[in-house]
Amino acid sequence: MSTRLPVPELLGRDVFAVDEGSPHIVLDPAVCATCTTTPCVAACPAQLYRVGPDGVVGLDHAGCLECGTCRVVCEAGGIVRWTYPRSTFGVSYRQG
Ligand code: SF4
Repeated sequence: MSTRLPVPELLGRDVFAVDEGSPHIVLDPAVCATCTTTPCVAACPAQLYRVGPDGVVGLDHAGCLECGTCRVVCEAGGIVRWTYPRSTFGVSYRQG
């Protein structure tokens, strides 16, 4: 019988190849500045969305799990591009 590892430990085994030249998620700061509910901040399982000191939501796509949750919960239209990373980039799940 195998033992299930806690989620943080499982995610800690993932490896990320970050595409600095072409982020796979792009936000429109002008739209995000008008968003008052910021569901992406609460919903992203990797906690990659943050409200900056200027009150505008920003994203660090480097640890993206490619789950698509932010794309679903954003109703304001702040995500102007959501694609999977280009070939050889993105997350590599190591277990589970
Ligand atoms: Fe976070 Fe998932 Fe959106 Fe990536 S795709 S930024 S992990 S909610």
